Amino acid sequence: MKNKFIVSACLAGIHCRYNRKASPCKQVIDLVNQGKAITVCPEILGGMTTPREPAECNNNKIITKSGEDLTNQFIDGAKEALIVAKTRKCNMAILKSKSPSCGYGEVYDGTFSGKLIPGNGVFTNLLLKEKIKVFTENELPKNIY
Ligand code: SF4
Repeated sequence: MKNKFIVSACLAGIHCRYNRKASPCKQVIDLVNQGKAITVCPEILGGMTTPREPAECNNNKIITKSGEDLTNQFIDGAKEALIVAKTRKCNMAILKSKSPSCGYGEVYDGTFSGKLIPGNGVFTNLLLKEKIKVFTENELPKNIY
């Protein structure tokens, strides 16, 4: 079976991060251009805007720097993004590291001080439950093309 990727939109060069910037990754952009990857931004699908206040994982909730609880919006966006992944029959994901939605293996700890703790983003956890294999831009799959 050919691999089909769901990828974080910011890795494909879309300016959807909280600071209205992208985090372009050449290999991800190549996959999109080759028709092998679908882009998605769970936070935008959750109704958030760009730019927006940064948010981090904090005791199973997602809280902004000013203390607003956005857990429900993050969950809604992750569910919508999962629908995209399943509809397009994606079996692999390449997601932006450390994000409260897309992080894999480690995320920021909720103190907005750059500290990392073990954990996954909300969207990542949904993909893993569906047995979709997750990578980050820092550890890409072998033989990606
Ligand atoms: Fe990128 Fe994911 Fe954050 Fe959207 S939610 S900006 S795709 S890391």
